[in-house]
Amino acid sequence: MGPPGVGKGTQAVRLKSLLGVPHVSTGDILRAAMQDGSALGRQVRVYVESGQLVPDELVGDLIAERLSRRDAAAGFVLDGFPRTLAQVDILSRVLGRLGMPLSKVILLRAPQAEIVRRLSGRRTCPKCGAVYHLESHPPKSSGVCDACGAALVQRPDDTEDVIRERLRVFDEQTAPVADAYRAQGLLVDVDGTGEADAVASRIDATLGRGVTGVSG
Ligand code: AMP
Repeated sequence: MGPPGVGKGTQAVRLKSLLGVPHVSTGDILRAAMQDGSALGRQVRVYVESGQLVPDELVGDLIAERLSRRDAAAGFVLDGFPRTLAQVDILSRVLGRLGMPLSKVILLRAPQAEIVRRLSGRRTCPKCGAVYHLESHPPKSSGVCDACGAALVQRPDDTEDVIRERLRVFDEQTAPVADAYRAQGLLVDVDGTGEADAVASRIDATLGRGVTGVSG
């Protein structure tokens, strides 16, 4: 877990390979629904594009379904869930039903100015999901994905106004989630500043043996 733009997605994708478990991102699940033209997608679009949280029950149903699939039986890396105290309860019920404990909660931190800079320069590939940054990790050819050649886009919620709203929502609704996991002794604070590789080393240093599920 961590504020928008702190690098959760980048690190979660890496942990997925390291641990050999699926990466479960509620943001990715919601964006996929928005693209497939479903009723669910139409319902969530207004929240996502304005930087608000999608209602807990809806996200909870999506996560319960995803974590019950066979590929998640040996563990998973959660990215962007839970984001409210109600979602903490939902996750605890789902994991209780599945008989899986939460091993660790990693909180990535970075100063707000760095977050705004990172998010406003972020460009993503709508086809293969690759992520670029105009200054720190530009594509070889401007506006074109190195990996698959598709035209890069800016997420509609990565504009400055919406970024500020997402940060406000994080402070108001998600910071208490970190406090709750800290009280349970599950939270590890990790400095999210600097290069992705440096952040990765800090995260790996916190992973004990036998970690099968990492929440974020
Ligand atoms: P992310 O890609 O994690 O930054 O999520 C993008 C957007 O999806 C958020 O700003 C919310 O609108 C929505 N979203 C993602 N995860 C959740 C969640 N756990 N609860 C509610 N809304 C979510």
